[in-house]
Amino acid sequence: MIEFRGVNKWFGALHVLKDITLSVEPREVVVVCGPSGSGKSTLIRCINGLETIKDGSLVVDGQRLGDRATNMTELRTEIGFVFQSFNLYPHKTALENVTLAPIHVRKIPRPEAESAGREMLAKVGLAEKFNAYPAELSGGQQQRVAIARCLCMRPKIMLFDEPTSALDPEMISEVLDVMVGVAEEGMTMMVVTHEMGFARKVAQRVVFMDEGAVVETGTPEEFFSDPKTHRSRAFLSKIL
Ligand code: ADP
Ligand code: MG
Repeated sequence: MIEFRGVNKWFGALHVLKDITLSVEPREVVVVCGPSGSGKSTLIRCINGLETIKDGSLVVDGQRLGDRATNMTELRTEIGFVFQSFNLYPHKTALENVTLAPIHVRKIPRPEAESAGREMLAKVGLAEKFNAYPAELSGGQQQRVAIARCLCMRPKIMLFDEPTSALDPEMISEVLDVMVGVAEEGMTMMVVTHEMGFARKVAQRVVFMDEGAVVETGTPEEFFSDPKTHRSRAFLSKIL
C-alpha cells in the first residue's frame, strides 16, 4: 500500500530523510517512533504529498508520487491524515466538520452524508455532540471528530502524526481506543506515536527513526523488550 525505496530528502543543507526503504502492506499497522527532529513527520507527510522527495521512489496505492500520471488530489482523498493539533473548522459543528468533504469533494448527497456522519460520530462516542462547535469540545473529543472526519471519506490509508501528544493525559485513552477500533477493522495505518500500549495492541511493526534514518524495525514485542541498537535503547530509556 505504501512503498518507500531509497528515498532522500533535504531541507536546504539538512539531510532530513536518509535512504528510506520501507513498505506498509494493506491492513498493516506500522508505528513510527524516535526522538524529536528525527524526521518522523516529514516521512509521513511525504505519503500524501505535503512534502516532496528528492530522490528514490515512493509508491502509494500503486501510484508513484511525482509521476505525471499520478493525480495527487485524487490520491489525497484516499488518505486520511490526523494531526497533533486537531485542525477542525472552528465555525462548523462536529457534524458539519465530518460532512463537508464528503459533500463537496466526494459529491455525496447531503442527507446521505449527514446520516453517514452521524453514524461515524456515534461510533467514536460522540452521539451527543453532533451540533457542538470545536470550542465546546474537549481536546479528546475534538481529536475523535478529526478521526471521524477522515473516516467519512472512506480512506484506504490513515496517517496519524502524534495524535495524542497535545492531549491531557486523561483524554489519551479515549482517542487511542478509537484508533484501536480503526485498526481492528483492517485499516492500513502509519502512526507516529510513543504510545507503547497502542503499538503492542495493534501494530505489526515498529519503525525507529533517528537523524533522518530508519535505524531499527521490529515487532512491538521485539522492539520494546529487546531493542537492538544503542540509539533505540537510549530513546526507550527516556520514554519508558
Ligand atoms: P519529527 O517529526 O521526528 O520531530 P520532523 O520531520 O518534523 O521531525 O523534522 C525533521 C527535521 O527537519 C528537523 O530538524 C526539523 O527542524 C527539520 N524541518 C522540518 N520541517 C522543515 C521545513 N519545512 N524546513 C526546514 N526544516 C524543516
Ligand atoms: Mg513530528
